Amino acid sequence: MELVMLGTGSPLPDARRAGPAQLVGVDGRWFLIDAGRGCLMRLVAAGVAPTAVEQLLVTHLHSDHVTDVNDLITTRWIGGLPPAPLPVVGPPGTDQFVDDTLQMLGPDIAWRVGHHDDLPSGPEVTVTETEGTTDGSIGDVLLDDGVRITAAPTDHRPVHPTVAYRLDVDGRSVVLGGDSVPCDGLDALCAGADVYVQTVVRDDLISAIPLPRLQDVLDYHSTVADAARTAARGGVGTLVLNHCVPAPGVDPDGPNGRAEWLAMAAEHFDGEILLPDDLDRIPVGG
Ligand SMILES: [Zn+2]
Ligand SMILES: [Zn+2]
Repeated sequence: MELVMLGTGSPLPDARRAGPAQLVGVDGRWFLIDAGRGCLMRLVAAGVAPTAVEQLLVTHLHSDHVTDVNDLITTRWIGGLPPAPLPVVGPPGTDQFVDDTLQMLGPDIAWRVGHHDDLPSGPEVTVTETEGTTDGSIGDVLLDDGVRITAAPTDHRPVHPTVAYRLDVDGRSVVLGGDSVPCDGLDALCAGADVYVQTVVRDDLISAIPLPRLQDVLDYHSTVADAARTAARGGVGTLVLNHCVPAPGVDPDGPNGRAEWLAMAAEHFDGEILLPDDLDRIPVGG
């Protein structure tokens, strides 16, 4: 089992970091978590065809996490011989989002169906909505066919509902936390996980910038310390800092560099801590 960090960026455009998207690989099966800016370029760079994605798991419908869902739908459809349905899992609202996306793509779909005799119909997208469970159990089991996928609610209010996912295979597990402050759902998923990926913000840097719109990001994301404490409570093996705001500096040892971020997390968590670049591959468990 491996985690491929397709896009490690945030809503802020970044020449080096694509928008939020992670890929989990299990023996040739590929699960895509979120489809942010540049997702398909990174997917192909990772050596995975859009047609090879078994499921798209959406953590929430904030634009930075779903900008390229339309690209995935279209490219998978026109590249499939024959086209295969795209299964999408996401929080309530995902079905409407997919319907709206297909409507936006309507003219393009009509042109392609009209032009290609071997494309008799438009893209087929199947949607499963979940809020995860709120009863204290680990989550809503979405798939249990060699790969066990569970979802649990997160707290990214006013964006609501939002979910995080955990994938388990043969005793190894990875948690994709998405955008959230610490909450019971994250704690439930993180318990004993090998790898935990969390969106993080630097409250020390952001609070010093007098822009109200930037200040607003602080109240619905985990700080580096929050993520580290969640990792420690769950006893996870590896904490992956992701979707960093502000983007870490280019010099890993300079101001706002990777070393600073890792050191802040290490104050609260003594396991492995990573701050990956796009296309970094992280083994999950043994
Ligand atoms: Zn968000
Ligand atoms: Zn985000």
